[in-house]
Amino acid sequence: MKVLLVEDDDLLGEGVSSGLRSLGFATDWFRNGTDADHALRHATYDAVVLDLGLPDRDGLHWLGRWRREARAVPVIVLTARDGLDQRVEGLDAGADDYLVKPVALKELAARLRALARRMRGQADPVWRHGPLAYDPASRRATWHDAPVELTSREAALLEVFLSQPNRVLSKQQIVEKLYGWGEALESNALEVFIHHLRRKFAPELIRTVRGIGYALGAADGPDA
Ligand code: CA
Repeated sequence: MKVLLVEDDDLLGEGVSSGLRSLGFATDWFRNGTDADHALRHATYDAVVLDLGLPDRDGLHWLGRWRREARAVPVIVLTARDGLDQRVEGLDAGADDYLVKPVALKELAARLRALARRMRGQADPVWRHGPLAYDPASRRATWHDAPVELTSREAALLEVFLSQPNRVLSKQQIVEKLYGWGEALESNALEVFIHHLRRKFAPELIRTVRGIGYALGAADGPDA
């Protein structure tokens, strides 16, 4: 899951962005709304975590603008403003959720996963594809009910595929989802991770679509 974090406080921004990364969220952190707005126009995010007190314009200004432009990305407001009227104002401005600082990282992560579920219209917190089951909260996977050990990069890659099970994804789209800005990727790293997933589950789990990229194999495929 790729998250855009807007937070002007250095300590909090650093803590939340590195904390989310350690929990497997690709996270881009910006300190003001202008830069975040720019990033939102040039990359695809699964959710935005938005502070309200920002140095340029207030977070509600940006939220209102994104909603007027019909940007559907889920937004969690993260703020020190804890009054009832302010929470109502934030939700009415188009926020999907509202958290008051200080926030427990575990709770923020759980709320992000809940938002992602809602966006996919899925009630079951475990993602399934044929004999594969994957729990994004614990990052544990099973294949025909047998546990499969995954590194955090492998789990992140699996999430990218499972979140868009019917789409062919270009290498560029996959890499964008996997890594935050500024994180370099060795040229053949994606192929290596895909090889690992095929070896750990089944070769048919991920199809190579010649000249385009990759896609999940059919849920009822030969070995599924
Ligand atoms: Ca602030």
